[in-house]
Amino acid sequence: MNILAIGAHPDDIELGCGGTLIKAAREGHNVFMYTLTRGGKSGQATERTEELKRSAKFIGAKDLKIDDYEDTKLTPGSELINSIESYVNFADPDVIFTHSKKDVHHDHRAIGTATLEAARNSSNILTYEIPLTVEFEPQVFYDITDVIDEKVELIEIFWSQNAKLYLKANAIKGLAEYRALQSRLNSHINYVESFEVVKLCLDKQFRLMKVPQAADSVKRVPEQERELEYAWNKR
Ligand SMILES: [Zn+2]
Repeated sequence: MNILAIGAHPDDIELGCGGTLIKAAREGHNVFMYTLTRGGKSGQATERTEELKRSAKFIGAKDLKIDDYEDTKLTPGSELINSIESYVNFADPDVIFTHSKKDVHHDHRAIGTATLEAARNSSNILTYEIPLTVEFEPQVFYDITDVIDEKVELIEIFWSQNAKLYLKANAIKGLAEYRALQSRLNSHINYVESFEVVKLCLDKQFRLMKVPQAADSVKRVPEQERELEYAWNKR
């Protein structure tokens, strides 16, 4: 399965669905990460870029694309939509994780809104929360109990941001523990990442389904023609 995670700044994807992505990559799924800015407003862009690369490697992502949009200046116009759409076509995702369009940060909201249009032909779109997200009513729960310590380790890669309270282990674990309790799944599931549904398609067996698209309506990049930005295995 191809899984695409989209975020505004280095550390957003990791906070929102880092545990899910670690498990997905471990299960053999192809994880694609697309971060729109280098986070230059909250640190050195070069340093944050390096942290992001380390984090994608830690996750075991197949590809990481880092764009050069200016931090805090994202707007959900045609430029942003076209950028996201072109990476959606590149990754050919079965499922997309993105920001909520109700998020407290305007860059996050811009991406949440732009993704809906950019990924209009995609079958499955979920939005994630970060510890700062206020308005969030999740319907999907994913058990990350077995990788919660790795998620904390993943977030610690972003040491340039270590003064931020929402990147602390107690914020990450606290939110995951709260969602686990809310999920009412069982008493052995202690940490959960949760998501809101934008769109889900199910097949006859009620499994997640990627609805095939007519070749002339969506320009997907064939797998053999994909040029990955960071080829982890060759470094
Ligand atoms: Zn952010």
